[in-house]
Amino acid sequence: MAGRPPSRARVLILGGGLSGTLAAAALARHGAGGGTAADIDIDIDIDIDIVERHALPDGPRTRRGLPQARHAHLLWSGGAEAIESLLPGTTQMWSDAGAHRIPIPNGMVCLSPGGWYRRAWPETQYLISAGRDLVDWAVRTRALALPGVRLVPEAEPVRLLGTRSRVTGAVIRHRDGTEEVREADLVIDATGRSSRAPNWLAELGIPAVRETVVDAGVTYASRRYDAPVDTAGWPVINIQADARQAVPGTGGTVLPIEGGEWLVSLSGTRGGQPTSADSEFLEFARHLRSPLIAEFLDRAEPLGPVTVNRNTSNRRRHYEKSRVEGFVALGDSATALNPVYGHGMSVVAQGARALRDLASKSDITSKGFARRAQRAIGRPAAAAWLLAAGQDAAFPHSVAKEPHFADRLTARYVSRLITTACSDFTVVKALTDVMTLQAGGAVLAHPRVLLAAFRGPRLPPLDGPALTPAEQAVLLGRPTPTHTT
Ligand SMILES: Cc1cc2nc3c(=O)[nH]c(=O)nc-3n(C[C@H](O)[C@H](O)[C@H](O)COP(=O)(O)OP(=O)(O)OC[C@H]3O[C@@H](n4cnc5c(N)ncnc54)[C@H](O)[C@@H]3O)c2cc1C
Repeated sequence: MAGRPPSRARVLILGGGLSGTLAAAALARHGAGGGTAADIDIDIDIDIDIVERHALPDGPRTRRGLPQARHAHLLWSGGAEAIESLLPGTTQMWSDAGAHRIPIPNGMVCLSPGGWYRRAWPETQYLISAGRDLVDWAVRTRALALPGVRLVPEAEPVRLLGTRSRVTGAVIRHRDGTEEVREADLVIDATGRSSRAPNWLAELGIPAVRETVVDAGVTYASRRYDAPVDTAGWPVINIQADARQAVPGTGGTVLPIEGGEWLVSLSGTRGGQPTSADSEFLEFARHLRSPLIAEFLDRAEPLGPVTVNRNTSNRRRHYEKSRVEGFVALGDSATALNPVYGHGMSVVAQGARALRDLASKSDITSKGFARRAQRAIGRPAAAAWLLAAGQDAAFPHSVAKEPHFADRLTARYVSRLITTACSDFTVVKALTDVMTLQAGGAVLAHPRVLLAAFRGPRLPPLDGPALTPAEQAVLLGRPTPTHTT
């Protein structure tokens, strides 16, 4: 600490993806008491270096280090609002660059395990529909403009510095091979699913934290299409897997994104996975629980090959139980989720907001800060974990612990809610609030929701998707020749 004013703190963030840049936004503002855009000219009391393995583009372009960006990423309102609170103006940047704000449930054509959702309900929540490169670019641009935040590109940690009880920095290797010692009051691991933090901590003699894995063996296959319609005002189409059936779960999503494109992701659990063959993409879509996605794709031109991702297990590292000082993990490096539920980015954003809130009340160099931060970050992650792991454990051939009686009871109740939601607004509202991470699971136990679940569906199920005339008109159009390359 010698040689610098005692009030100045140093933060070293490992990884410059969404978690890394949002962690920087969370802490760069902490001197302002978690403030707004107007507080940007606060006295800087913190230096933040973000060490990123790759070069980061200065536009919403494809980059190395983010292979999942080729797959559909929906950002629920709970995540979008957390990002906006950390970096005001980001939503406008997304929108100016062509992202769509899609109301829920009326802007979704959705076949849930309980049936087709009605669309006549008013908006309860929303999602942001955009390519992942666009989402990250806007966040990165705003975060890197904050005072005290610095990107160290094309560099990576070699090892952590510290003792058995405290992390005090890291040794960083630059692209030219030179190594540099970086001391820090707080090190944040934001290196994603491939994080090597467990090894780095073990090298310091720090006891390993427990890991929980629930793996339904999900494979994603995605392809971009030139949409045959204006994507503004176009719904998200979502055919969901049904974990209650004793067969592998298959599903798909069509996201209307910037540039007039549909980004289509299909997925299947172990035993029912899609392949990377272009020629099999449409056939896979045709055999989902409804062929609707294939019927739309018959009328659209593919813009490139199919891309596959198999790195989708739910994996939780329980860092909140660790007593180590000076080290925090945020995002996929701590809790990675099956992407089918679309929660990863929202959990990152809410975790970063929790970090900001804590840092606005207590000194990040104080004893116990890392543990308190890790607990705060863990709360939104735990909520999403319950949703994802609870469902995934039910698929055939899932790698998971045998569910307890309470888990089975919860799963049956959620299943009842999902069926009731197709015809009851009280339940739609509660479920969409929880799904978008705007409310905790407790709202599902509200007496009004319990009563609605007890009563069950109030209207007969829809016998097909609720499409508007404009959407039906696309299906009536002539199919384009199938493209296999
Ligand atoms: C197929 C798929 C679809 C998904 N769909 C959705 C969705 O619909 N909605 C949603 O919210 N989430 C979705 N997710 C999850 C989402 O992608 C992640 O939750 C999110 O990217 C986590 O951000 P992160 O910053 O923690 O990790 P990452 O985005 O993986 O970023 C990690 C960063 O660290 C860098 N890095 C890695 N190792 C090092 C190192 N040793 N040194 C320096 N830098 C390093 C990488 O280059 C990268 O920039 C999906 C994921 C997948 C795989």
